[in-house]
Amino acid sequence: MEMNLLVLAYLFGSVTFIVGLKMLSNPASARKGNLVAAAGMTAAIFATIFLYTDKNGNPLGNYLWIFAALAIGSVAGTSMAKRVQMTAMPEMVSLFNGMGGACAALISVIEFGHLQEKDPGTLLIILLGLIIGSISFAGSMIAWGKLNGKIKDFSFGGQHIFNLALLFFILGIATYLVAAIPENMTLLFYGVVALSILYGVFFVLPIGGADMPVVISLLNSFTGVAAACGGFLYENKVMLTGGILVGAAGTLLTILMCNAMNRSLKNVLIGSFGAGATAGSSASFGGTYKEVSLSDAAVVMSYASKVMIVPGYGLAVAQAQHVCHELEKTLEAKGVEVKYAIHPVAGRMPGHMNVLLAEADVSYDKLLEMEQANEEFKNTDVVLILGANDVVNPAAKSDPASPIYGMPILEVEDAKHVIVNKRSMKPGYAGIENQLFFQPKTSMLFGDAKKALQELLAEIRSI
Ligand code: NDP
Repeated sequence: MEMNLLVLAYLFGSVTFIVGLKMLSNPASARKGNLVAAAGMTAAIFATIFLYTDKNGNPLGNYLWIFAALAIGSVAGTSMAKRVQMTAMPEMVSLFNGMGGACAALISVIEFGHLQEKDPGTLLIILLGLIIGSISFAGSMIAWGKLNGKIKDFSFGGQHIFNLALLFFILGIATYLVAAIPENMTLLFYGVVALSILYGVFFVLPIGGADMPVVISLLNSFTGVAAACGGFLYENKVMLTGGILVGAAGTLLTILMCNAMNRSLKNVLIGSFGAGATAGSSASFGGTYKEVSLSDAAVVMSYASKVMIVPGYGLAVAQAQHVCHELEKTLEAKGVEVKYAIHPVAGRMPGHMNVLLAEADVSYDKLLEMEQANEEFKNTDVVLILGANDVVNPAAKSDPASPIYGMPILEVEDAKHVIVNKRSMKPGYAGIENQLFFQPKTSMLFGDAKKALQELLAEIRSI
């Protein structure tokens, strides 16, 4: 009976993971999808704690340890998630992902200790979980440090060759262990742990800051595969399903992000976009730009028939999403059609702008994806850019020397007027100047996005 309940709970967990993941693909259902998957995970955890029995019918036991760990993890995780700034989400995801990798590696360490019969199949799974989990743990920690600015990019001549050699060395030791199963494996086993951690560190250290989310997504898929190895070891179906889903979803997200930047994964891993090489490597335009007054901006927008808002990282930093929604409603009340053009890598994490605007109750049908938006710019009177820079930089199309060359952009220049709100003429994430700001149809509205929007809103209301 108990066994059946356990299987049912695992089935419930697996189904909720799949349904939850599907719901995550749409901003309207994403929050609920997260809860659905979390409910499945909770059911699977408690079913394992209370219903699992080993071959001799003994329950799990160790309840004090289990609940103490659950309590510590829940309190730490909840308080971190509550406090985290939206712009610091990628680094938190990286930290949590690293913990997942460490768990998978620790499972392998424990199960290596339990290995009685020298079964090559089990040893293979243990080593796979160990290597992938350790790389994911170490790599995620480095990514976390880089994103919060504590760790700087670091590389040395021939590092990619060194990394490849290190990886082959690790795989060589693992192959030897599985094939020969020597009498005393302990030293080599812990050697694999140390070298895998070293590899994780050297793998992520040279990768440029702007590519970090792609790497985090890749490491996320590693953690999934490492967890799936744990599922194999324990013959635990829900762990296996969860691990495979994370592995597959992480891989797909990695590919999608590379496509959004028009770069190959190889280029991300051994290229240097976002690393030191980017700053200043593109032409410097200088020239003159013109400013627009609040009242002029208000008039142009109020009498437009179509306004397109382009949100970017600056909108997120200024937390201006609510006032932006107010502006949208006010303009619509005056008969202006307002839409949002969403670039897939605007902000600092995938889906950043969708999450931000959803928080302010902006209706989803107002959000246009890049391709749709690019079709509509030519029929747009005013584009209002709020704290976006790289994602509207025409150098991506016209300057082969630019580090963002080839990245698809929002082609805002097709509209009649472009108003750019930012605080200064400083560059964005890629560290390069933006020729758009010097175009005749562009005018700058300087100031913090929230403050500027509040003032603009007041002007528009007074017309
Ligand atoms: P950018 O980083 O290119 O530009 C943001 C602009 O916002 C800056 O130029 C800054 O100018 C301005 N800004 C900052 N604070 C404020 C404020 N309080 N009020 C108004 N403006 C402000 O952002 P984009 O969104 O255009 O592009 C995203 C970049 O980040 C791309 O290069 C992308 O590749 C990269 N990236 C994307 C990730 C993703 O997954 N989405 C992950 C990691 C990086 P000023 O200082 O003058 O105000």
